[in-house]
Amino acid sequence: MSLLHVEGLRAGYGSADVLHGIDLDVDAGEVVVVLGANGAGKTTTMRALAGLIGRRGTIELDGSPLSSRPERVVAGGISLVPQGRGTLGQLTVLDNLRVGAASRDDKAEIEADIERWAEVFPVLGRRSAQLAGSLSGGEQQMLAVARALMSRPRLLLCDEPSLGLAPIVVQELFATLARINETDGTALLIVEQNAELAMDLADRVYLLDVGTIAAAGTPAEFRSDDAVRSAYLGY
Ligand code: ATP
Repeated sequence: MSLLHVEGLRAGYGSADVLHGIDLDVDAGEVVVVLGANGAGKTTTMRALAGLIGRRGTIELDGSPLSSRPERVVAGGISLVPQGRGTLGQLTVLDNLRVGAASRDDKAEIEADIERWAEVFPVLGRRSAQLAGSLSGGEQQMLAVARALMSRPRLLLCDEPSLGLAPIVVQELFATLARINETDGTALLIVEQNAELAMDLADRVYLLDVGTIAAAGTPAEFRSDDAVRSAYLGY
């Protein structure tokens, strides 16, 4: 059974659907990447899964229907790193991490997790008392990931984590995501325009095109498909 099973997902804004029936699965511990051009519906997919916008269709977590209420989605084990980070600029780094643990009441464990993520992302440890709004873009992205991890998700949704970051920072971030996936078994569903980098991390890839899944396969299959390669990988 899949950890996340999505079938016929439709969502949009107002009366206009942006997603026209998406099917996708993520297994426990798997890294799945969704590629797609601007406007394909990648962010809309993430927001629909997180319960941030209305949607129709089937979304199951461990075989049971997933709540459409954001706080229940988090409590169920799915956490979103939103596009544009979404950190709370007027709160300190430390308080942002505490907000990420709002679904939990195990105080001592929460403090232990804060220490852990401050070691994994050393810059957050060094800047724990600093307002999140004064962090650099790369630092804010690290904070956004650490904050999402504070709910101890089994599935982390990452919406374009590389956006606006210097290549060296992106590499560091992706290496950290890979390490978390390996050590904790946290499954990752990542939407990215940086196709090459994301595919290095992926077990499986989906291609989203104007609100539908146009292709699915392994990174090797994607790289050997001429049409996909020229349209999305640029070589
Ligand atoms: P990008 O890579 O540019 O972020 P995306 O694949 O994430 O693109 P979405 O943000 O999901 O695409 O947008 C898909 C479509 O939905 C676009 O045509 C966009 O204009 C539309 N859309 C997104 N947000 C809204 C909104 N709040 N109200 C109305 N339409 C929206």
